This record gives sequence, C-alpha cells and structure tokens, in this order.
Amino acid sequence: MADDKSLTPRGSDFSAWYNEVIMRAELADYSPVRGCMVIRPNGYAIWEQMQRALDDMFKEHGVQNAYFPLFIPMSFFSKEAEHIEGFAPELAVVTHGGGKELDEALAIRPTSETIIYSMYAKWIQSYRDLPVLMNQWCNVVRWEMRTRLFLRTAEFLWQEGHTAHVSEAEAEEFTLTILKTYRRFAEEWMAMPVLTGRKTDSERFAGALRTYCIEALMQDNKALQAGTSHNLGQNFAKAFEVTYQNDKGGLDYVWNTSWGVSTRLVGALVMTHGDDAGIITPPRLAQYQAVIVPIYKSDEERATVLGAAEQVYRELKNGGIRVHLDARDGMKPGAKYYEWEGRGVPLRLEIGPRDVAAGNVMLARRTGGKKTPFATNGLVHSLRIEIDAMQQDLLDVARTRREQNSIRGVNKETFLEFIARDGGFAYGGWCGDTFCEADIKEQTKATIRCLPDEEFRSPTAPTTCMWCNRPAVAEAVWAKAY
Ligand SMILES: [Zn+2]
Repeated sequence: MADDKSLTPRGSDFSAWYNEVIMRAELADYSPVRGCMVIRPNGYAIWEQMQRALDDMFKEHGVQNAYFPLFIPMSFFSKEAEHIEGFAPELAVVTHGGGKELDEALAIRPTSETIIYSMYAKWIQSYRDLPVLMNQWCNVVRWEMRTRLFLRTAEFLWQEGHTAHVSEAEAEEFTLTILKTYRRFAEEWMAMPVLTGRKTDSERFAGALRTYCIEALMQDNKALQAGTSHNLGQNFAKAFEVTYQNDKGGLDYVWNTSWGVSTRLVGALVMTHGDDAGIITPPRLAQYQAVIVPIYKSDEERATVLGAAEQVYRELKNGGIRVHLDARDGMKPGAKYYEWEGRGVPLRLEIGPRDVAAGNVMLARRTGGKKTPFATNGLVHSLRIEIDAMQQDLLDVARTRREQNSIRGVNKETFLEFIARDGGFAYGGWCGDTFCEADIKEQTKATIRCLPDEEFRSPTAPTTCMWCNRPAVAEAVWAKAY
C-alpha cells in the first residue's frame, strides 16, 4: 500500500489491489497456519447473508440439512478410482489420535461423497425412500500450496448437496435445477452475471458423469468458477452399494448428484464490484445497507443532530432496512466516510444541523454520483427504491463489462491475440479432442471454462475447431482462470 489512504489501483496491480481491499474492509486475515485464513466479522457477515439466501432456495426444492463427520476412513477413498486419483494429492490425513497410531488413517474431508453415500447405503431400501435430498454446511480441507484469500485456501467453508434418485433422468433434472438456482443466486443476490454450461471431461469432477458450472468474469478478465453441480451417475452408488428395491421388486443402484458453492463467492463479489476505494457490496448481501453519519460541531448541534439521527435509525430499522448509526465521538465525518466506503456499504446518510432543520438527510451512493437530499418523511420507501436500483445497476454494469470483454467466433490467430492482450471470454469451435484442449492450455494458460448452454451460444454455431480446423463438435468458452 502506498500510504494509509490509497489502495493500489486495480489497473496497475489487480492482485495487490485485491489483497489490500480485503484487509482494509477487514473481511479476512492471514492465519498463523500457512494456507489457511481467518474470516473476520465483516467477511463472515457477507457469508451469512449468502448462506441464508441459498439455504432458503435449497429448501424450496425440498432439500434438508444434515451433518456428516469431518473424518473419513482412508479406505473409502479407494472405492471410487477416479475420485481417489483426483483428491489424493490434496488430502490431509490424520494418523494419530489420543497419543496412539490409528489402525486406519482418517482423511479430513476434501468433499463428502464417500462418507455420505456409505450412509445412504444403510438408509435407502426401497424406491419409496427416494429421492433423498440433503445438504450440509461445513468446512473442507484441500492441501493447497499456492493460496489466496477466499479464492484458494487449504481450509474453506462451503455447502455440499448430495442427492439420490431412481433414474438418470431425474438425477440430471435435479443437477440442472441446482445449476439454475446457483445462477439465480449469483445474478439476483450477488449482482454477478454468470455463464452456465458443462465442463469438458478433463475439467469434470473426479468421479462424476457430467459436471455443470456457473462461470463469472472478474474485472481483470480472468474467469472464476463460482459453483458446480455434478450428475454422479451410478459411480458412487456402485462403489458404496447404494441400492434400492424398485417397484417391480428388482434391485437397482441409485443415481446421485452433488453440488457446492463456497466462501470463494466472497472473493468473487470483491473482484466483480470493487473499485479503487474498496469493496462494493450489493445491497441484498450487505451487512448494513445504509450507514448514518451525524455531522456536528458544537455540543448543541450534537444533541440536535444525534436525536434526529437516532430517529431516522429507528424508522429504517423498523422498516426492515439493515442500518447502522455511526455515532462514534471524536472521529471526523470524513474519516467515517472513508471507512464505510472501504467496507462497501451501499448507502451513506449524512445528517447535519441544516438537514435536520429542512427535514432531510443527504444520501451518498457507494457507486458514485451526486449526493442527493431525501426527505426523512417516507425515507424507508425511498431507500427501498434506491436499494433495488443499485442492485440492478451493479448487475447491468457487470454484464456490460463481461460482454465488452468477450469475443465470439475466434480463430487461432484472433484467439492468441485476444488472450495475449486483455483477455476475457473467447467463444470458438472445438473439435472435442483433449489434445487440442491441453495444447491450448500449455501455450496460452487459457482453459475451456465450459461448453455453454444454448442461451449463451453464438447465433451461428462454429463449424471448425478454432485451434486445429477439424470439424467442431461444440462451441466452447476459453479464458484464463483463477
Ligand atoms: Zn481441435
């Protein structure tokens, strides 16, 4: 940081800016344990808002919460070949307990398919027991060597949903229902536009039949995988003998899905909306949607202004707006503005003696623009309008930025130029060959983020692979990614 007052601008060093805004907003801090992070109250408050919204959405689809153990017997991982291969390099393993070496080592969960399906095998008997729709909110550990606050840490918080169904079609439908739910959450709550689509086989979850994802474009034009939903097929059902008696009396394996989003979303929010003054929290997820800053000089003014400010505070609070009154004494209003700006509070209400006399508050928006006087009469209603407008504006601005940084119909030459210059989402034809995919990754660091769903595909389907010119099997979206 150059000094106390200024952050490194996004344009000069995005990564330095990212770390500085998180520290300034007191969202998280580095921990004494390498690779782990401490989520501070301001960061946790955002995560709590996210949890509430998502949890309600899951429950609308009939999902119930449960909790499974942190420790998983090592032998469970070997039961699904792809799964162990995918997760072995990043497992943390407990070998001792109570001062003794354990008979069987225990992995600290990197994800819970194995332990959950071992229990489903016990609980599911008949087609009448299906579907089983469960979710757990928990922590997981994946031993990461290169870590970044919120985006990649050895331990992180997430939700993992796990379901069991009678048929592939039903499992597929549920996988896509959750994908749509994630998209709705990203757009309506985080004001973060996302592409939805399918992962290629090389980017698919270890042990899944098909992986679907939501992908967002950050302000530095790198993609961020913001959530995944997997159709696991019968891979885990077969590994853990999760069978049920069908309606004809025969025995079948269930079809599973699993899906998750994590505290990585807090990082996504920072990188989608932050500016050179700090983070900007979309109002629907903000701990405080508005902060009131009283302005006074004399003791007499102080009494008048604080009285009015307290009244505004009570009215807004009763009106269902998440509001904070910053009545700290001995701190200049400017210093308070600076602090709340850095923390991304959407609306700031300033109240001085003249405002009290006029029955007004001055409203400053975190997204900029002129300060505007608002009558204290009917303030709840006017702030609701402001909140909705800001929520929508943030989404519109982010979507426009994404589209301005997307290129369609690339060939090898335009693709290389695009990725070397500013980057972004590059749409082009793909032959379906993993060799092409790997070659592109090696030469440019860009990966296929997804094979986009119809809604996001280009009006004219590409006919040839942008890299090798052989016939295309699908349109793909490439980008460098976090
Ligand atoms: Zn190709």
